[in-house]
This record gives sequence, C-alpha cells and structure tokens, in this order.
Amino acid sequence: MNLRGRTAVVTGSNSGIGLGIARELANAGADLVLNSFTETQDDRDLADGLAKEFGVTARYIRADMTNPDECHALVAEAGACDILVNNAGIQHVAPVEEFPVERWDSIIAVNLSSAFHTTAAALPRMRASGWGRVINIASVHGLTASPYKSAYIAAKHGVVGLTKTVALETAEDPVTCNAICPGYVLTPLVEAQIPDQMKVHGMDRESVVREVMLARQPSKQFATVEQIGGTTVFLCSDAATQITGTTINIDGGWTAL
Ligand code: NAD
Repeated sequence: MNLRGRTAVVTGSNSGIGLGIARELANAGADLVLNSFTETQDDRDLADGLAKEFGVTARYIRADMTNPDECHALVAEAGACDILVNNAGIQHVAPVEEFPVERWDSIIAVNLSSAFHTTAAALPRMRASGWGRVINIASVHGLTASPYKSAYIAAKHGVVGLTKTVALETAEDPVTCNAICPGYVLTPLVEAQIPDQMKVHGMDRESVVREVMLARQPSKQFATVEQIGGTTVFLCSDAATQITGTTINIDGGWTAL
C-alpha cells in the first residue's frame, strides 16, 4: 500500500487507537497531522519521532474537538487533508437518570459533532484534489447498546448515521466515507472504564474484563490498535474504492450474536 503524497489528519491521535492508526498510515507512507486538545513537548516529540521512524512528515496541531471553530481550524491549518480519521472520543459510565448533563454534552461534542465539523471542513478540498477518504471510528456501540453508556451510544449511533449520509452526498465524487466499529480494544479509554465498571457491577478487575467487557466479544480477545490501523489503511487502498457508507466491525464476533 503506497500512501506517499497523501496527508492524513487523525483526531485524538496522541494515544490509543488514534496513535495506532497514525502509525499504520505513516508505515504506508502517509504524511501525518496528529491532534489532541493538549499542547505539550511530549505531543511535539511524538510527531517528530513518527516522522523519523517512518520517513514521512508529521506535525502535531492542538485543537479541542469540543469547539466547532477549532475543528475547522485543524483542517485549515493542516493545509492538505486527503485522509480524515475522526477518532477523538471520550466516555462516561452512569445510569441515565444520574448522567451528568455536562458529560452528556461533552461526549456528544467530541464523539459526534466534531466529526460533522471536520468533515464539513475537509470535503471541499477532497473534492478539489480529486481523492479523499473519511474514516470515522465509531464502535460496536454505534450498532448495539449496553447499559450505563447513554451518551456514548447515542453519539456512536449518530456517527454511523453521519457516515451513511456523507457517503451518499459524496457518492459521485472520488471520496468515500466509512465507519470502523471496534469491539473492545485495550487502550487508556478502556482502562479508565474498568474502575467504573467494577463499581457499577461490584466485581473485581479480572471478572469485569472477562464477564462484563469481553462477555459479548465471542473471541474473548481484545482487538488491537494495529488491527484498527490496518483496516484504516485498507479503506485508503484502491481495492476499497467502491466501499462507502458502510461499517466494518472489528469485534471478535460481537455483532454476530
Ligand atoms: P484514548 O483515550 O486512548 O484516546 C482518545 C483520544 O482522543 C486521545 O488522543 C485524547 O487526547 C483525544 N481527545 C479526547 N478529548 C479530546 C478533545 N476534546 N479534543 C481533541 N482530542 C481529544 O481512547 P481510545 O480507546 O484510543 O479511543 C479512540 C476512539 O476509538 C474513540 O472514538 C473511542 O470511542 C473509539 N473506540 C474505542 C474502543 C476501545 O475499546 N478502546 C472501542 C470502540 C471504539
């Protein structure tokens, strides 16, 4: 796979799945724009390290995905945006009647609205350049539900709907839009959920991992960031030119249940 000459903007890419996707795209030759809401030396060093490791250009651009103007500014500052990966995401676990309103608002903003804003910003230049890929990192929770994650599940179902709509609006353009729906991938987001889940279910860590988190993942294995990244690269390949408006589930069989 040769993505030389393509620039990929990956939101929320200073850790976890976003970083794994950025690494696989760089390994395929893409230049990178990394992003998060922080602005630290570690963030800049991360971009420099990837540039050296893969022989591509890599920049870090701070932009808070809760802020529509900053979503647009990220794409504008990137200059080129051939591949847009909407990956930034946050989570909160609580019963719906106790769900803090500000957490609901921020989860919808980061996990759903940011994808709308960055896509709106990126599509004109994708159309003008004659090639584009929008890849939204949704979740099995964009297709199914679990208790205590109302905002996250509402946002991820929204991302799947946005994906289909953008695919139809770009169907005659050289642009595709798809969603990847991972099951559980062991990253900081998942690590952070474990104490909450232990509290909600009254279980120890090992029981929560096997009986709650991987209960619906028939393979009983977490997916890996390399697998999500590899699927992203595939969606950028010529073989995927007619794949648009769909979801690719990487969930060890979860959605087959
Ligand atoms: P993570 O916490 O490691 O990464 C989340 C990223 O989003 C980080 O880089 C963080 O800095 C960034 N981010 C958070 N708020 C932001 C903001 N306001 N502005 C800009 N960046 C922001 O989590 P992860 O597990 O790698 O999750 C990445 C994506 O994958 C999320 O959309 C998540 O919903 C999705 N996902 C994760 C899993 C899983 O099991 N880990 C499963 C399905 C889907």
